[in-house]
Amino acid sequence: MSNKITKITKTEAEWRAQLTPMQYHVAREKGTERAFSGEYWDSKDPGTYRCIGCGEPLFKSTEKFDSGCGWPSFTAPLDAQGITEIIDRSHAMIRTEVVCSNCGIHLGHVFPDGPAPTGLRYCINSASIDLEKQSEQS
Ligand SMILES: [Zn+2]
Repeated sequence: MSNKITKITKTEAEWRAQLTPMQYHVAREKGTERAFSGEYWDSKDPGTYRCIGCGEPLFKSTEKFDSGCGWPSFTAPLDAQGITEIIDRSHAMIRTEVVCSNCGIHLGHVFPDGPAPTGLRYCINSASIDLEKQSEQS
């Protein structure tokens, strides 16, 4: 997988100042918000989901689907270059972690049980993304 150096590096103190405690826990400590607790798991608003760490557009509402898992789920990233996938062997499981390619924050995991055509489910924490609603764009 990609070993490229992330473009944005911040100290943990800078991250703590920028993010809410929940965002920091998810984004920097690879935490997971409780299912059905996040801001976007049930959102159907059209728009672009941007990285909470750097503002990079990562996912679009058109790829969002109702997975029933309690987290925002997408069948594909907006741009495959925008995310980096890392093998995660924590919690006695082998999963594929998804991080922002630009700033390196933890976004969630990708699972091979999504709908066609990709067959993928990007299971992303609401705390790691920020929806820019389409109607607010000028
Ligand atoms: Zn980022």
